[in-house]
Amino acid sequence: MHPVGWAAGAGIAIFYCVFSASLQFLFYYRKAASAASWKTQSGSGRSRLGGAAAVPWLPALDALRFAADARAKRQPWHWLLSSVNLALASAAAALTVDAIATGRSRVYLDWPADWSTARCVGTAAGHALFIICLHQLQEYWWHRLMHLPWFYKTFHKLHHAYKSPEPFDDMYINPLEAVGYYIILYSPPFTIRMHWTAFAVYMAVMGTAGVLDHSGIRLCIPGLYTTVDHDRHHQLFNVNYAFPFPWLDWLHGTAWTEPKEIPGENRIVVAAPSRGRFRRGGLRGQSPARRRSTASQSRRAAVGPAGSVSSGR
Ligand SMILES: [Zn+2]
Ligand SMILES: [Zn+2]
Repeated sequence: MHPVGWAAGAGIAIFYCVFSASLQFLFYYRKAASAASWKTQSGSGRSRLGGAAAVPWLPALDALRFAADARAKRQPWHWLLSSVNLALASAAAALTVDAIATGRSRVYLDWPADWSTARCVGTAAGHALFIICLHQLQEYWWHRLMHLPWFYKTFHKLHHAYKSPEPFDDMYINPLEAVGYYIILYSPPFTIRMHWTAFAVYMAVMGTAGVLDHSGIRLCIPGLYTTVDHDRHHQLFNVNYAFPFPWLDWLHGTAWTEPKEIPGENRIVVAAPSRGRFRRGGLRGQSPARRRSTASQSRRAAVGPAGSVSSGR
């Protein structure tokens, strides 16, 4: 293994643990009293706010009965599955970067000598954007596949155990399903010719968004990205399959539209589904009774106390 491969594998694990623990400490512990201002589902009674976030929780350490308070609100085998998936992610990163460093991928390490800096930056940005779009397309359909009844019951149901995900919950996923995500994530260097900086930018975006999507912390880049999107997928189950970016949900009509208040009326209504969401999205193919039930769950979730829904299982 090339030393850069080892560094990439260790780097992924360290980045994940330090970033997740920092979010947990800075928001769930330090800002526990003002959770309503930043928490996506601030009414959830199962949150690990306050004391539960006082001790940094790391998946493997839970096996040693460390941080018992934090463990109390997690699924019984969360520590084991998270550790296995984190090891898989690190191994995938290490092997991919090793292949890049030893010339066994389609990634090149040097720019042509006669290219200007602007041309190099523009090319890297274009390649990064292209593989992000490619990733979004593959991940969207992989996720939709996981919501078909057999796949959901066999694999994906585990990940949906958390209706209001918080730091470290993203790795609670069936390892076989996770392997599918990692194949999608790490395939571009073997299929697309690009400079290594484009792959580095792509990994930085996906790694950061993967943690933020399950952080339970409301963050938004208007028109481009919001952590609320994937949080709504966990809350409402059959909307917002795309992550981190909403483009594929917009195209397929599966995007969730936030409820809007009507001025002058003391009530909240559910906005019209974007591009026929319920007809063309997750409810298509379900029985009429199931459709009524799921749609009413979504409406209750939109107008009721946040985090009170137990849908999709
Ligand atoms: Zn899902
Ligand atoms: Zn998720």
